[in-house]
Amino acid sequence: MYDVIIIGAGVAGSASARELSRYKINACVLEKEEDVCCGTSKANSAIVHAGYDAAEGSLMAKLNVEGNEMMPKLAKELDFPFKQCGSLVVCLDEKELPGLQALYERGLKNGVRALEVITDKGRIHAMEPNLTDEVAGVLYAPTAGIVCPFNLNIALAENACINGIAFKFNTEVRRICRLEGGWALETSQGFYKAKYVVNAAGLYADVFHNMVSETKIHITPRRGDYCLLDKNAGSHVSHTIFALPGKYGKGVLVSPTVHGNLIVGPTAVDITDKEATATTREGMDELIEKGGMNVKDLPMRQVITSFAGLRAHEDGHEFIIKELEDAPGFVDCAGIESPGLTSCPAIGKMVAEILARKMGLELNPGFHGTRKGILSPNELTKKERMKLIKEKPAYGNIVCRCELVTEGEILDAIHRPLGARSLDGIKRRTRAGMGRCQSGFCSPRSMDILRRELGLPMGEITKAGGKSKLVVGTNKDRI
Ligand SMILES: Cc1cc2nc3c(=O)[nH]c(=O)nc-3n(C[C@H](O)[C@H](O)[C@H](O)COP(=O)(O)OP(=O)(O)OC[C@H]3O[C@@H](n4cnc5c(N)ncnc54)[C@H](O)[C@@H]3O)c2cc1C
Repeated sequence: MYDVIIIGAGVAGSASARELSRYKINACVLEKEEDVCCGTSKANSAIVHAGYDAAEGSLMAKLNVEGNEMMPKLAKELDFPFKQCGSLVVCLDEKELPGLQALYERGLKNGVRALEVITDKGRIHAMEPNLTDEVAGVLYAPTAGIVCPFNLNIALAENACINGIAFKFNTEVRRICRLEGGWALETSQGFYKAKYVVNAAGLYADVFHNMVSETKIHITPRRGDYCLLDKNAGSHVSHTIFALPGKYGKGVLVSPTVHGNLIVGPTAVDITDKEATATTREGMDELIEKGGMNVKDLPMRQVITSFAGLRAHEDGHEFIIKELEDAPGFVDCAGIESPGLTSCPAIGKMVAEILARKMGLELNPGFHGTRKGILSPNELTKKERMKLIKEKPAYGNIVCRCELVTEGEILDAIHRPLGARSLDGIKRRTRAGMGRCQSGFCSPRSMDILRRELGLPMGEITKAGGKSKLVVGTNKDRI
């Protein structure tokens, strides 16, 4: 019997696990996929929002601003890429400037620091030269930032793991039943029992909520398509550029990423299938049409990949984080749509505080709050790099030519706590395969390292676990 079982190893579940590991606790995370960061947390805009969007007084607004404030310190403690680049909301029509002012005032009420409405075009273009000449004004939020969503999620989970939280992958929760003093969870790997359950199942959080509560909730998958542009285009803008919703519709954002690419998106289309993450022709057309509205000469021919993510949109458009009144011991962490990534440090803290209060948990004196990311020789001086290669020659073997990822980094990704077990696992941890050629060159090399290090036949190596095997046999088998 665990004290706590968390369903889902996205940012909400992993942040909750890390915060719970500050206490003496026997807890476990159950994840249906083969790795952390396989749901919505892996496919989003990666913006650390300032906090002027969410309705005043909402939990979403509170946790957005708290999460934004916690992110710089967390990034240092857990060593994941984060940059406070600031954001601009662009207004194209003087008649719509009151809309910008309204956002500014909402931001102030939400507690966002240093917001500013700027209408001086000279100043705006000095800040962001490629902004459209049509600009009438911008809302500048210097506290906004960008983050690597994979490394944020992985870092939270790794740190929770080294502090004693168990993670069980390929373990799909199918049914939850009340027990005397707790819960039984029927999974694809047998039964698990816990005194408390945290429901951080993202798009499926309504399914588990509705299994245990009479007050039903409903989550709609809201698809967002994206284009990711090559690093050649990465400095086209230096802030995250949002459109002010207005007579031109909702608009899409254009932003640098922490790794030096440019991202354009997302669309917003309500669908019914919670697994439908394929991009669409219409989505791509919309990005091409709207992307250039606020930014001049957007180099859309530099697209290296496209992808889609699904927002877990709850009908009430609010984070639901609480112990359920009619299901004591069951804590929801549901409706975590945007700004969920930004808010995750504060979400984790809130979930852990609910449980610590309820269970009377004692602090864990052995809690170790820092973690070191994967060493990148790219970030060393030439002298340091040469020394490293001499000591560990695998750091001299370039596996991914686009992102200059070495065998040493891939070995680290495989052998660290909650290590990579698939090509995507390596990609999210090291960026091997994320560059211009989109893994055309490095896939077979990464697969060979996985095969060797995990002691598996090549036919068992997968792209992303489950049935996603990459090799069906050798050519000679077919002759
Ligand atoms: C298009 C888009 C853009 C966004 N942009 C931003 C942004 O710029 N900034 C921002 O702050 N937020 C943004 N978000 C929101 C943010 O990505 C989410 O709020 C956040 O990732 C949600 O995390 P989560 O842990 O709740 O869900 P998930 O990451 O989906 O994690 C849930 C986990 O539960 C697992 N699971 C589900 N069912 C089961 C089961 N039966 N058994 C076991 N495990 C199960 C899933 O496999 C998954 O790993 C965006 C979202 C989208 C889709």
